[in-house]
Amino acid sequence: MALAEDTAIDLTAMPEEASALADIRAMVQPCIQCGTCTGSCPNEFAMDLTPRHMWRLVLLGRTEDVLASRTFSLCSACYMCTLRCPRGLPLTEAIGRLKQLAARRHLSHLRSGDLFYRNFIASVRRHGRVREMEFMGLYFAQMMNPWLPLRYADMGMRLMRRGKVTLQLPSRGGGGLNKLFEKVAEMENRS
Ligand code: SF4
Ligand code: SF4
Repeated sequence: MALAEDTAIDLTAMPEEASALADIRAMVQPCIQCGTCTGSCPNEFAMDLTPRHMWRLVLLGRTEDVLASRTFSLCSACYMCTLRCPRGLPLTEAIGRLKQLAARRHLSHLRSGDLFYRNFIASVRRHGRVREMEFMGLYFAQMMNPWLPLRYADMGMRLMRRGKVTLQLPSRGGGGLNKLFEKVAEMENRS
């Protein structure tokens, strides 16, 4: 991935973001660049920056390069890097903070994953479990790409034949998990 020469973020422009970035940097400050995180990551093959490289850029203040990559968005929070890091750094948590930061910016190259995640969670919140056909239908509608459903058609047909998914129309659901979601949001805002 080509990296810009001077992409350190302007810390005075966005104080909240600057504070979040300072926290993330402090979390990985003791990194010794050993590469254990990269060697432990099951998703590294699909990442454009290795985890080790990403942490180096974070420490250098090259935030725009980090946010322009897909590396943090491909993290599946398996915690392998966190468990194996010889410095005991909270890497999975730091990646979670990067994801939050990127979500607030609504970055276009992460739009697909962002909408997928939001619709998935909204479905769980409405129904207490994910309703696959409903959430995928809403996701397709928001992506506004008529070709996108074709990519999933084969898998969808196979799942339907096996009775794993059924046709579903959107519904409001019971909102049984509303209180739980509200509580988590409250706790996150406090931390
Ligand atoms: S495993 Fe830990 S110390 Fe090693 S490169 Fe990754 S973050 Fe740095
Ligand atoms: S927590 Fe994320 S970055 Fe760390 S090893 Fe797992 S997938 Fe990779």
